[in-house]
Amino acid sequence: MPFIDSLQKNIWALYIPPFPDELFSSWYLRLTQAHAVKSHSFGKYYFPGQQFWTRDVDNMPTDYLRKIIFDSTPLTYNTIESLFLTSYQSYLFENHNPNGFTSGILPLGIVHRKRKHKGLLYCPNCLKNNPYYKKKWRLTISYVCCDCGVLLKDCCPECKNPIVFHRLEQGDKNKVTILSLSLCSHCNYDLTENSVKATQIQLLNQSNINNILQVGYSDHIQYSFHYFHLFQNITNLLSRRNNTWGRLRKACEFEFGPLPEREENFYFWSVEERLPLFEIACKITNDHSFLKYLIVNYNLRLSEFSKDYKLPYSFEKIFKDY
Ligand SMILES: [Zn+2]
Ligand SMILES: [Zn+2]
Repeated sequence: MPFIDSLQKNIWALYIPPFPDELFSSWYLRLTQAHAVKSHSFGKYYFPGQQFWTRDVDNMPTDYLRKIIFDSTPLTYNTIESLFLTSYQSYLFENHNPNGFTSGILPLGIVHRKRKHKGLLYCPNCLKNNPYYKKKWRLTISYVCCDCGVLLKDCCPECKNPIVFHRLEQGDKNKVTILSLSLCSHCNYDLTENSVKATQIQLLNQSNINNILQVGYSDHIQYSFHYFHLFQNITNLLSRRNNTWGRLRKACEFEFGPLPEREENFYFWSVEERLPLFEIACKITNDHSFLKYLIVNYNLRLSEFSKDYKLPYSFEKIFKDY
């Protein structure tokens, strides 16, 4: 490890910086590729005891992991923190749960080194321009790439398997194979193919959502984590048929046609199935005249929205004004 005078420390010889909004795991795999070693060997040498692929490492950083990165790179602690999903605390969610489910984060369903769920999305065009994975591609509120104007995908279009880029290095145990992160690790399909253009309204919805997440504030509901909590709650109501708490879904099916129906929780649905619910939730949270219309015409009850948590005052007020 060369000693860098200006930093007064030794850094990894073939250090490469993370790209904008890059996920830790994506940068880590690229870093090990730059050193021409398997991620397992690199981890064993520099991070003894740390698990990388048998846990959701992007969602569960440890102080140990942060410290080794700090000691071996020119990165500041702030930049290191920004590689992990925990950095959405106070923006997407109020409190991060280090031991499991956190609102707004897509689950991977980790079984050993494999993934059961399609919890990592991607933009085919971004992967073509620069093959790395972004942090916002792990979120339930991400559907469109606003840079490219295309819909995000959640699996390989060819073999339908989830995206598990670290498995690209599998194969001969002693041979280091360096493949682009833009390939499917199951069938080698080029994931940069077949992008689907987003509509203007989809693009607008996503850019509003991204903006709220970035600034941490929404015009109507103030703190962004309150906004996203309400947003998740609405999406959840839309996703389930329910005799007691089903008025919103019924009203929206009347307005927009049948909505997808699945036994599983919304978090496990495919991105295509979740998209129509996302669009309706955007309309309800952004267009208060539409919400008022639903309240009046379908006799919606405040209790349906507030059954699990305290509603933001501005949202409650729309009901109370009727
Ligand atoms: Zn893109
Ligand atoms: Zn595939």
